[in-house]
Amino acid sequence: MPEHFKNFIAGDWAAPTSGEYFENRNPADQNDLIGLFPRSAPTDMQRAIASAQRGFARWSKTPAPVRGQVLQRVGQLLVERKEQIARAMTREMGKVLAETRGDVQEGIDTAFYAATEGRRLFGRVVPSELRHKWAMSYRRPIGVTGLITPFNFPLAIPTWKMFPALLCGNAVIFKPAEDVPHTAHLLVEVLLEAGLPPEVVQLVHGQGSVVGRAMVEHEGVPVISFTGSTETGAVLGATCGRLHKRLSLEMGGKNAMIVMDDADLDLALDGVLWGAFGTTGQRCTATSRLILHEKIHDRFVTMLCDRAGKLRLGPGLDDKTEVGPLIHEEARQKVDAYVGIAKEEGAAVVLGGRTPGEKRLECGWFYEPTVFAGVKPGMRVEQEEIFGPALSVIKVGSLDQAIKVNNGVKYGLSSSLYTRDVNGAFRAMEELDNGITYVNAPTIGAEAHLPFGGVKQTGNGHREGGWEVYDFYSETKVVYVDYSGRLQRAQIDTE
Ligand code: ADP
Repeated sequence: MPEHFKNFIAGDWAAPTSGEYFENRNPADQNDLIGLFPRSAPTDMQRAIASAQRGFARWSKTPAPVRGQVLQRVGQLLVERKEQIARAMTREMGKVLAETRGDVQEGIDTAFYAATEGRRLFGRVVPSELRHKWAMSYRRPIGVTGLITPFNFPLAIPTWKMFPALLCGNAVIFKPAEDVPHTAHLLVEVLLEAGLPPEVVQLVHGQGSVVGRAMVEHEGVPVISFTGSTETGAVLGATCGRLHKRLSLEMGGKNAMIVMDDADLDLALDGVLWGAFGTTGQRCTATSRLILHEKIHDRFVTMLCDRAGKLRLGPGLDDKTEVGPLIHEEARQKVDAYVGIAKEEGAAVVLGGRTPGEKRLECGWFYEPTVFAGVKPGMRVEQEEIFGPALSVIKVGSLDQAIKVNNGVKYGLSSSLYTRDVNGAFRAMEELDNGITYVNAPTIGAEAHLPFGGVKQTGNGHREGGWEVYDFYSETKVVYVDYSGRLQRAQIDTE
């Protein structure tokens, strides 16, 4: 009998009022049922919001350094449970163990960063233009924050949102992706064991279009942070705009790696294999375009297909596996559909382009690492996010042309340049229109203590991670104290 997992609402583990559950299965082996998770109803969400408001009333009055101590304990518990959580994560979403361990490590780093931020959360004292008057700003908690997260970083992305939100004194409602409810459950267990007051966190499982939507539309949740598809982000943007909510959006990418003719090609090859096929291409920063200088194009495509063709597919829990499955059947169908689109558009499928034939892989959502060559700027496989192990190769004649191709998409998350020319590298840093640029490293690999986010339709101007995210989760208040004992008028009595 599979375990029936619960929501965490109003300080207790609670079955969904609907009485309905959904299955969570291992994407590497559909016969492996992990558990049944609540298909919650809007009423569950409403109860969670009412409880989170009570949690907020208490937590917002707790001194920030004390809030930081709770996050310190959260970090320590994550260290102790790193292996257990990594294994559970690989089982439910497929990426290889080295990557899920990295995912937990990012949560640990984020916890320890947040813990120390409890002793900073700086405000400012600035000179007033008037005598005997102080002018200062400080940060206040906002209220209940609603966090909506995707499947590809089941622990790291929730912690990017949750830990700064909590440190700033807010309560949290966590609506994880339907594909990764078990990791979400394990994370909330850690928070509670670390001593977070129960009503400060609520976990509500279920469909985005039902419970996610109920949360976004509820006036009791003034802050929403979302990572996911551009389509869902647009829906949230419209709702939050209408309701005047604070909204952070982190959405798609069509990230490119540029390899110039003077680059270290072996280094670039290691980079593109990791960037394009790590996490089976399901990262928002995944390398999905490879822009090659014409002088090294043919040689590099041969090197790439040779190595990518040898990547070992399999369950992420197997030590020998290099590429795990896709998250579900629709994701695999989407990649396969783009293979058809690439052919129709006149690109050549020079590697992969199919489901592997091996019997040992037939119970999972595996797809062969795929390379499209002869891709021209403007083709759909050059413009649209595929979110799978598919890489489009574009040939260019110069750095200027490479930058133009890089910038010619609607997204602007990550980019990468391989070159030994320091002048070219600095010029590209200026001109590549992305939130993140890597030089001589692939498009993936963000560190938790730096801001993360993209330009154009990747986001809406906010950043996660690092120091900037603390501005998002707090409200700035300004206080003037006039101790002159008389009326002093700003801009008028300033002699
Ligand atoms: P992906 O393609 O990565 O699954 P989605 O945007 O569909 O991206 O999902 C990301 C998160 O957004 C998930 O937690 C999902 O449940 C949630 N979600 C989907 N639709 C909505 C919606 N209409 N309102 C709120 N949340 C939603």
